[in-house]
Amino acid sequence: MTNNIQFYSGENIPLELHKVRVVQKLHLVPVERRLKALQESGFNTFKLNTNDVFLDMLTDSGTNAMSDNQVAAMFRADDAYAGSQSFTRLLKAVQDVLGKEFLLPVHQGRAAENIICRTFIKPGQIVPMNYHFTTALAHITENGGKIAELLCDDALEIQSTNPFKGNIDIHKLEKCIQDHGSENIPFIRMEASTNLIGGQPFSIHNLQQVREVADRHGIMLVLDASLLGENAFLVKQREKEWKNASLAEILKTITGLADLVYFSARKLSSSRGGGICTNNRTLYAKMETLIPLFEGFLTYGGISVREIEAMAVGLYETQDETIIRQSPDSIAFLVNDLQQKGIPVVTPAGVLGCHVDAMSFCKHIPQSEYPAGALAAAFYLISGIRGMERGTISSVRDEQGNEIPSDLELLRLALPRRVFTLSQIKYVSDRMQWLFDNRHLIGGLRFVYEPPVLRFFMGTLAPTSGWPLRLLAKFKEDFGESL
Ligand SMILES: *Cc1c(COP(=O)(O)O)cnc(C)c1O
Repeated sequence: MTNNIQFYSGENIPLELHKVRVVQKLHLVPVERRLKALQESGFNTFKLNTNDVFLDMLTDSGTNAMSDNQVAAMFRADDAYAGSQSFTRLLKAVQDVLGKEFLLPVHQGRAAENIICRTFIKPGQIVPMNYHFTTALAHITENGGKIAELLCDDALEIQSTNPFKGNIDIHKLEKCIQDHGSENIPFIRMEASTNLIGGQPFSIHNLQQVREVADRHGIMLVLDASLLGENAFLVKQREKEWKNASLAEILKTITGLADLVYFSARKLSSSRGGGICTNNRTLYAKMETLIPLFEGFLTYGGISVREIEAMAVGLYETQDETIIRQSPDSIAFLVNDLQQKGIPVVTPAGVLGCHVDAMSFCKHIPQSEYPAGALAAAFYLISGIRGMERGTISSVRDEQGNEIPSDLELLRLALPRRVFTLSQIKYVSDRMQWLFDNRHLIGGLRFVYEPPVLRFFMGTLAPTSGWPLRLLAKFKEDFGESL
């Protein structure tokens, strides 16, 4: 589905409903330089420098384009340690858009997770959720907690027609509460647009059911709203009852079902920073003292006042469908295009990016040789496009040091909000098709240096054979002097 403006030709084109007024020059360096850059970065796309990257599709975090109104607001920022007018404006935006009276500002999403987990989790407790996010899991376990992932049955199937793969399974949730006892459950965590399974939304109906279960057992419901704007948009598109509702109404309905809402403003509001908000004064008071300890005073929480102004405007813009839909519409376009070319991608199209299924793209590479990491390296080599591995490299080893193969091996190509144009997206698809036709030339990777924690960020790898050179040779054969 693209937007509501139909083309006479019948083509499904995600028409941009904004114009570009500030641009940044990009560099598409020659393929030989790209091979060298890969070698220098240990075949880990996190370690590439952007002067070697053409389209940076690593992440949608802090890389979104701001609107003219956001940039303008940054100039009126009120530099005050305490009682800043910028904070007052942000608080008003949180009340208007998210419908929550109290706000604790934090420097980014994971800082909110730190504060929430420290406050509410006791060792041995269990947090049921639709699915984990890397930093949420880290903070829960850091505080002695465990997680129970209760996704619906087909959530991990690559190709599916389920419009709400981010739904929690209500029966599994009931059973989990029965098995562990509600006193051992500090809260239920629902993540909007479930990030790690391909940016898949939950439905409002599902969230209402979770609310009902939470009420019945007296358990708190926490919403990770980092990708809330797009979840709300997909509810409008996919959940019949909400077809004619405004985004403003949908957003408030979702946040209204949760006791605590937290978010990374690096995504929601296309700015930087984060926040925890609630209508419950007691919950607020429990967390309040930790903000000056870890983040900064209560009216800035480690965020620059300029970013606070941009966040306030960005939150209001989340209610604007023409602004929110650009990224999911472009993702749907790319997903459809790749699917038509026979390239395995996660469906239905989700938010934040297009997810290529490396396990079936590179059937010949065993999971022990990291097919998603290899595909990310190979794709950068032949296109200059930087994606991110979301597979076994992004996971952790067990206590004995054995590799735990991850559920999915995905190459994630993030589409930061309002950043890329349609011709750039067509380039992504074109180069992906070439790589798919030459996929037998891609080989595996092995670790050369493996850090003990969060190894995917700084680890270095090497190809298990001379495959990068063979891929480069075929590229030269087909493209000649073209970059
Ligand atoms: C990015 C993200 C976070 C963490 O936010 P940071 O600002 O990167 O710390 C938490 N949850 C979800 C769903 C996210 O996408």
